[in-house]
Amino acid sequence: MALIVQKYGGTSVGSVERIHAVAERVARYLARGDQVVVVVSAMSGETNRLVELGRSVSARPLAREMDVLTAAGEQVTIALVAMALSDRGHPGKSYLADQVAIRTDSSFGKARISAIDTERLLADLASGIVPVVAGFQGVDDDGNLTTLGRGGSDTTAVAIAAALGADECEICTDVDGVYTADPRIVDDARRMSQVTFEEMLELASLGSKVLHPRSVEFAGKYRVPLRVMSSFEDGPGTLITMESNEMEQPIVSGIAYSRDEAKITMAGVPDVPGVASRILGPIGRAPIEVDMIVQNTGADGLTDFTFTVKRDDYERALEMLGAVQTELGARDLSGDNRIAKVSVVGVGMRSHAGVATRLFDALAAENINIQMISTSEIKISIVVAERYLELAVRCIHDAFELGAVEAEEE
Ligand code: ADP
Ligand code: ASP
Ligand code: MG
Repeated sequence: MALIVQKYGGTSVGSVERIHAVAERVARYLARGDQVVVVVSAMSGETNRLVELGRSVSARPLAREMDVLTAAGEQVTIALVAMALSDRGHPGKSYLADQVAIRTDSSFGKARISAIDTERLLADLASGIVPVVAGFQGVDDDGNLTTLGRGGSDTTAVAIAAALGADECEICTDVDGVYTADPRIVDDARRMSQVTFEEMLELASLGSKVLHPRSVEFAGKYRVPLRVMSSFEDGPGTLITMESNEMEQPIVSGIAYSRDEAKITMAGVPDVPGVASRILGPIGRAPIEVDMIVQNTGADGLTDFTFTVKRDDYERALEMLGAVQTELGARDLSGDNRIAKVSVVGVGMRSHAGVATRLFDALAAENINIQMISTSEIKISIVVAERYLELAVRCIHDAFELGAVEAEEE
């Protein structure tokens, strides 16, 4: 008998048929004697709809109210799944975050889980009830509803698994595991049977939607066995592992991308100490998160300064820098919010030179211009025009021979 936390994403609970299929899947685990805690997302498209609704009422919607609004989708699915389970003779009981309670800080829209009360969950499990918990939401110390950021139901599930000391946390989704690249973009992307926490954390942080970055962090910190698998069909999925034998690792394990990017350039800035702090100071205090930063070598006492922010923060950041430009007497302030970031990730990169060259050659062969580059020990990220994103991902995937090996024709 195992204790398993299963999380079902939007597509997996996207219709009445899918809700029944989830209940059937949970019932199979119960039938073999496992205990299951279910975490669900809103029906697919629902959270987007609620976000749009909020924006259509208010140009600058209050973060607290947006959380109350967007968390509503999960309230619907927990009740539906609990009903479908109960109809099958397995009493299910729905829980909102504050009923559990899942405690977070007060950062609306990106709250972090601080503690989970396991009392009611454990009592249910002991009496044969299946708790069905709303993903994505939490409650702060003042009783305000909070949300964990888009895709945050994964984090709810892993945090509950950690708090309960579960044997495994299964992220059940519309793909049958973690692939070498988004299978929606790369036809011959290959499912990995396992991937290290370190790599998965990079992939998720760099844009791979398949897991919420915080969920991977939690799994690593609390040593929760984490598996990504299909909710539609049986299969082993992908196990996120602690161990890594770097000598046996491929150089590059996977490719991630993000369209959620924009860049801002302040050109012709006096090349004197303190410029970066004058430009990025107000941005940081906003607070707007800055990702890549490039400062060109100065000429004639002037320099160009470029950095990237999330696309949602682009207009606000550009507006704020208008005043800084005047203050610094910079020649030009410009930006581009139609850029994308592509990253290659692999712990094997540590012991191999020449990864960057191979990447740049592949992009050059397709005539794709690289606008910015940043590297770390186990990843290289590049910024390209958004229109080249898919081509870039595919050609890099080919260059590192990550694709599935074709079965020999008879
Ligand atoms: P859910 O609603 O179940 O949480 P998501 O849409 O958040 O599902 O995540 C699953 C999606 O992640 C897949 O449909 C796939 O398009 C995308 N994805 C991006 N990168 C990868 C990858 N490397 N491996 C698998 N899926 C990926
Ligand atoms: N429903 C939320 C979202 O769409 C959380 C999730 O799906 O994980 O972002
Ligand atoms: Mg998701």
